[in-house]
Amino acid sequence: MIDLALEHKEYEDQLVPKINDTIKNASFINGEEVKHFSESLKNYLNVQYCIPCGNGTDALQIALMSLDLNKGDEILIPSFNYVSAAEATVLLGLTPVFVDADLNTFNIDISSLESKITHKSKVIIATHLFGLATDMDTIMTIAKKYNLKVIEDNAQSLGCKVGDKLAGTIGDIGTTSFFPTKNLGGLGDGGAIFTNDNSLAASIKSIASHGQTQKYSFERIGINSRLDTIQASALAVKLNFLNNRLEKRSLIGKRYIDKINANSLKKPSLIKGFNHTFNQFSIQSENRDELKNALAEKGIPTMIYYHLPLHQQSAYKAFEKGSLPNAEKLAKTVLSLPIHPMLTVQEQDYIIETLNNHA
Ligand SMILES: *Cc1c(COP(=O)(O)O)cnc(C)c1O
Repeated sequence: MIDLALEHKEYEDQLVPKINDTIKNASFINGEEVKHFSESLKNYLNVQYCIPCGNGTDALQIALMSLDLNKGDEILIPSFNYVSAAEATVLLGLTPVFVDADLNTFNIDISSLESKITHKSKVIIATHLFGLATDMDTIMTIAKKYNLKVIEDNAQSLGCKVGDKLAGTIGDIGTTSFFPTKNLGGLGDGGAIFTNDNSLAASIKSIASHGQTQKYSFERIGINSRLDTIQASALAVKLNFLNNRLEKRSLIGKRYIDKINANSLKKPSLIKGFNHTFNQFSIQSENRDELKNALAEKGIPTMIYYHLPLHQQSAYKAFEKGSLPNAEKLAKTVLSLPIHPMLTVQEQDYIIETLNNHA
């Protein structure tokens, strides 16, 4: 699916000395590299504040904690999604309200979103899934109309453009993950939170650090969530390659779209004004499970993101009594093909040909 070892060979001569420096300096927590990397990412995104943290799930929890919400406030969350936003919501005593998916983009369905808004709604979590940003113009218009805050979960789409802005910098708060397989992956866990709002930035910084504003003065309930210095030093190296890697992913994705021609498959959509960076390349097939097996027999790994929408998961089904038909349909039909910057043209062709023959 992804060849991280091969990719890291290309950075090795830069990564190893940086990591050795960190070991020599022994400033493993909050070292200079953490500040340096946060500054670089802030500049890359052209955002006012970038606060690093332990992982992308913490980033969402901290973002929610910074918004001064009350028990029972409703958080609108796409159901066709990774679990983090729903998990953080429930852990904080807030109520997840699951929203259906758009069958073309896999992102939140706008009419379903509007239909789920009540007087208790406080926040929209816009997840930018698979490397394609959500239509933020529309999301921000709805948020304004109903006086809602917007958190962009940008764990899968760092570096994606929405017009002349970058995903994660448009809502009130953006979050991301540096899990190794994300667009910008570390050598372990990591995450970050973005905002242009001074007072939110101050809250976020404090919450990520036990609720402190000064050392040992605890002004609010916080958590402990930090980006390790070693991770920051590796991420600083990899950030320099990010655009190049995203460009490669985009080209491979476009090549797949051009050459996959089996009529039984629905391919991902390219949308004007949005650069798809294909963190995943997900096709839809009515015979998904047979196709997955046929590809596996030919040595092609595939993954199913996600085999159940959140509103049908044991832990979360109590929060949605009805049906979200698109999310349910996607869960039954999606299949993600191998895509990563190191995938050779020969490998791509083999995948395309095998898929066209078996779909
Ligand atoms: C990966 C991911 C997360 C969580 O990131 P971690 O760093 O693993 O905690 C959150 N949301 C989405 C959409 C993700 O893909």
